[in-house]
Amino acid sequence: MIFKVITKDEFKKFVDGLAEENETFGPKLVDTRADGTAIYDFRRASCFDDMDLDYTISHTSIKRFFLPFRETLSEFNFSGDDWEQTIEYRNNPRAIVGVRACDINALNILDRILMGGEFPSPYYIARRRNTFLVGMDHDPLEDCFCESLGQHLVHRGFDLFCTEIDGKYYLKVNSAKALAFLRNVETHSPTHEEDHMLIERKKALKASFKAKVDVSALPSVLDIGFKHDLWKKWGDKCLNCGSCAMVCPTCYCYAMEETIDVGLKTSKKERVQYSCNLVDFAEVAGGHNFRPLKEDKLKYRYYHHYRGFAQNREDPICVGCNRCGRACLVGINPREVINDLLMESKS
Ligand code: SF4
Ligand code: SF4
Repeated sequence: MIFKVITKDEFKKFVDGLAEENETFGPKLVDTRADGTAIYDFRRASCFDDMDLDYTISHTSIKRFFLPFRETLSEFNFSGDDWEQTIEYRNNPRAIVGVRACDINALNILDRILMGGEFPSPYYIARRRNTFLVGMDHDPLEDCFCESLGQHLVHRGFDLFCTEIDGKYYLKVNSAKALAFLRNVETHSPTHEEDHMLIERKKALKASFKAKVDVSALPSVLDIGFKHDLWKKWGDKCLNCGSCAMVCPTCYCYAMEETIDVGLKTSKKERVQYSCNLVDFAEVAGGHNFRPLKEDKLKYRYYHHYRGFAQNREDPICVGCNRCGRACLVGINPREVINDLLMESKS
């Protein structure tokens, strides 16, 4: 890792240069809620001024750039007795600017599963390898609890990471590509005082988290609480809408869809994002549902996120962004569910 400091004017030049050469995305104000709070999303940006880099949080995560809601895995052409399969997973270079630490950590979790797991996805790998990521620190929102999970800091999985110090950015340079891009602008090696400012900024960030969750005993509490009644209490509230999984940066459950044209000449196989909370998630041919109860669907999502499944080496996969809590129409949020579980385990 190389460390540099850049002024905001030079950083603007850097982003403008990046956007000139790559398809670039950044946070943008896209709407406003009834209560006046802003809704941001990552959208195509043509230059620095086209981005709202002081955004609060994006409503959906950047997961969709790597795991699109719907993607074609293969296409088939049938002609006579012969058939041909086309598989396409090339991806043009692109850049995403202004990504939060917890969202980069979420990608690092997906990397372990979709790049380093037993069944790596060439589609995901192509997108991840061809995406230049510029991360950026931010002051936490009232309900972010990523600090409790140790996900408020990020050390890998990005090309460049910016922390604001005294009107400049302290840069962590994590790839040869980032170093090459930075040659086009003016930077300097951090002074002792700037190093000190970075440390103070990190301390201030850590101290500013208001939402806390005690996860220290969580895996054991979850092991013990598997049959607890509280899953029914929370499960009964759930609408099985799947919104929590759609906005979550680490949910990666999916369904497969195969479509054949009426003339039986072509077909395609698509991968579609799904949620273990949807009613038919565990339904198999013949109509049998292995997980018909709402409480079981909700419970398994929580066990995947906080207890871990074998596929993610039994590590938790939640990064504490609370997007699911904000998106849920009936107020189910991880902090309350976990606190409830912890309280019940003590009683
Ligand atoms: S807080 Fe919710 S949306 Fe965010 S990573 Fe955890 S489970 Fe996913
Ligand atoms: S968003 Fe809320 S209601 Fe919808 S599936 Fe998730 S927990 Fe259930």
